[in-house]
Amino acid sequence: MSSIASLSEDLVDLVDRVKGFMPEAEGIALHAAAQSYFTGGVGVEIGSYCGKSSVYLGDAARLRESTLVTIDHHRGSEEHQAGWEYHDPSLVGADGRFDTVGELRHTLAEAELEDVVVPIIGRSARIATWWNTELDLVFIDGGHTEEAARADYEGWARWVRVGGGLITHDVFLTEDEGGQAPHRIFRAALDSGEFAEAAEAGSLRVLERIKPSPSNG
Ligand code: SAH
Ligand code: MG
Repeated sequence: MSSIASLSEDLVDLVDRVKGFMPEAEGIALHAAAQSYFTGGVGVEIGSYCGKSSVYLGDAARLRESTLVTIDHHRGSEEHQAGWEYHDPSLVGADGRFDTVGELRHTLAEAELEDVVVPIIGRSARIATWWNTELDLVFIDGGHTEEAARADYEGWARWVRVGGGLITHDVFLTEDEGGQAPHRIFRAALDSGEFAEAAEAGSLRVLERIKPSPSNG
């Protein structure tokens, strides 16, 4: 297996400046895990926001001559809407709507990742209805409602190839630490018997597919 590279100083500096929700230690773990799963194929990220985690994943894809598809409707999750805990008024567009597309493009351009990372603007469950490509990895960091997290697990985990990675963010063991939807899909993946625990850092959980998906044969 190829050795695992660390993020360049320029990219460490960039991710530090990008708005978002990926603590550095977890980002470093994500960067390493992604390098071990990318083998020249495609990876999917759900929840681009302004591209913070996309830089870690995208750089890993570049190192392994792979492609990262990053999916987001760019309207923000519930907690990003006006009046909610994580609302950032600087991300409201001229039309008065929350919109992170411009920030994502800016981040990818600055990281020189525009050729490696392909953004798709849309609702993840809609895109999953027509997706038909096996994946080296899936990173789930989109909507944290029960419905959104469940739809991401059901729509995307099936495409992870045997030996590929299913990575979930914001997995908290108790309600006090955070919402339980990501934790529940992480448990569902383990309980399916199709995945085994590979690594963890903070609220990041890395699973590896050990059995083919019954949905995809
Ligand atoms: N990974 C990012 C944080 C993602 S925040 C980082 O490192 O900073 C969650 C994102 O998921 C938001 O941008 C929101 O717009 C998006 N999202 C929520 N529900 C979604 C859905 N159903 N389909 C696509 N994107 C969704
Ligand atoms: Mg997150």
